[in-house]
Amino acid sequence: MHDIGTKPDDRLSASVDVAIGSVSPCWSCRGPVVNGDVFCGTCDAVQPPGQLDHFRRLGLKPGFNVDVAILNRLYFDCQRRLHPDRFASRTPRERALSQQQSTSVNEAYETLRDPLKRADYLVHLQGSGVLTEGCNLVADQELLTESLELRELLAEAETIAEVAALEKRAANDIKSCIDDLSRAFADVRLEQACRLTTRLKYLKKLEDECRVRRACLSDRVS
Ligand SMILES: [Zn+2]
Repeated sequence: MHDIGTKPDDRLSASVDVAIGSVSPCWSCRGPVVNGDVFCGTCDAVQPPGQLDHFRRLGLKPGFNVDVAILNRLYFDCQRRLHPDRFASRTPRERALSQQQSTSVNEAYETLRDPLKRADYLVHLQGSGVLTEGCNLVADQELLTESLELRELLAEAETIAEVAALEKRAANDIKSCIDDLSRAFADVRLEQACRLTTRLKYLKKLEDECRVRRACLSDRVS
C-alpha cells in the first residue's frame, strides 16, 4: 500500500525538479544554458524545449490554483518572444527550434487554462507512482450513482426549462467541485483530487449534453 499524502513537497520536487537548475551547453555556442531557459544567455540562440512540466514551462509553480490573468500574460509573453517574424532571418535550425518551443508553450497553455485538464494533469504529475491505476479507474459507488441519477434526469427532461434547470445545477456543481479540488490539492490529498477530477469530468460532460439538448428543444419550438 502506498502512503498517499505524506511529504508532498519531496515527491513533487523529485518528479519535476530533476531538470530544474541543471545546466547544459548551448547547441550553438556551447555556453551554459540553465534548463528551461528558452534562449542562450551568451549568444541568444533559441534552445530545444527539453523536458519541463507545463507549469514551469510557463514560469509557474505547480499547483491547482492558477491566476488566469497571470497565466495569460506569461503565455502571450512567451509567444511574443517566439513569434515567427523574429526568426525570419535566423538559421533553419533556430526556426525549427522556435517552432518546437512554441508548440510546447501552446500545449502547456491549453492544459493549464482549463480547470479539468489542469486537475487531470496535476494528478498525474503529483501522483505518478502513487496512483498507479490512473484517475479514470476510480471505482466510486457514490460517484457512479450520482452520475447515473443526473443522466436519468436529463433523459426524462422534456421542456427547455427542465433542461435549463439541470444545466444550472451542473454549473453550480462544477463550481463547488473546482473549490473542492483546490482544497484537495492544497492538502495534497491525491486520492480525493483524483476522485474529484473524475466527478468534474462527468459534470462537464453533463453540462455539455444539457446545452446540446436545450438547443435541440429550442429548434423544435421555433
Ligand atoms: Zn549560445
